[in-house]
Amino acid sequence: MSVLQISGKNYVVMGVANERSIAWGVAKRLLEEGATVIFTYRKERSKGKIEKLLTAYPDATTALVECDVNSDESIQQAFTTIGETYPVLEGVVHSVAFAHAEDLRNAFVETTREGYAFAQDTSAYSLIAVAKAAKPYFSPTASIVTMSYLGAERVLPGYNVMGVAKAALEAAMRYLAYDLGEQGVRVNAISAGAIRTLAAKGVPSFNDIMHKIEDNAPLRRNTNQEEVADMTLVMLSPLSRGVTGETIYVDSGYHIMG
Ligand code: NAD
Repeated sequence: MSVLQISGKNYVVMGVANERSIAWGVAKRLLEEGATVIFTYRKERSKGKIEKLLTAYPDATTALVECDVNSDESIQQAFTTIGETYPVLEGVVHSVAFAHAEDLRNAFVETTREGYAFAQDTSAYSLIAVAKAAKPYFSPTASIVTMSYLGAERVLPGYNVMGVAKAALEAAMRYLAYDLGEQGVRVNAISAGAIRTLAAKGVPSFNDIMHKIEDNAPLRRNTNQEEVADMTLVMLSPLSRGVTGETIYVDSGYHIMG
């Protein structure tokens, strides 16, 4: 048996848009370990992409459920549907974020009230809403993992309103860890290094950030989808059973540098 003890258990993976998505890296590893993966998607286009990606895993047990994290109704409906077929969940991977392009392009001081609320709603509040909807289905050893970024703590020009949303996401993660810890459920964040994905395209300073990491990180290279996926699997598995409320860096060590 694999040391991860993930085989045969049910995991919800939110946020696969295409093969570059961090969530797809996690889903691939879960499927390789013999887990059942329930994908949630927002757009029909993403559903089609996931279906196509899954053709490489003909023996895997999977399901696809629509879920728009900007809507409580959609989140509730998604988890009710999931719970009907999979009443016991061992984990949820929350790999979802969005902000308006102009709020990343303009100076941070120009952030609009609406743009701020939208980024928070999609990228931070969604973790709370998802945890609430999934709570009735969690096993006593379940684990939630969300994806954060260094912009939560440091000023990375161009990350702007998303940095503030990630700060809220990490704080929400800690409060959820306290609440859900009572039923044994763990909640952690992975602070991933820069990876070229659809979401990353919206960050104007992304190329500069990648070069800086290559030049300065202890490992002198950028991280990749597989490295983030592997650490996410550890955080989902009983190997990390003593860890909750933590932000784990998978960033070639970049965050330790002055
Ligand atoms: P991605 O674009 O592949 O994934 C983002 C996902 O969020 C998409 O699948 C998109 O459909 C989904 N999404 C957006 N709004 C939604 C909504 N209202 N309802 C449901 N889903 C919605 O990009 P990614 O880089 O894989 O991003 C995944 C997570 O990783 C995000 O939280 C991102 O901030 C975080 N992250 C990314 C990097 C990076 O460099 N790529 C670094 C650190 C953290």
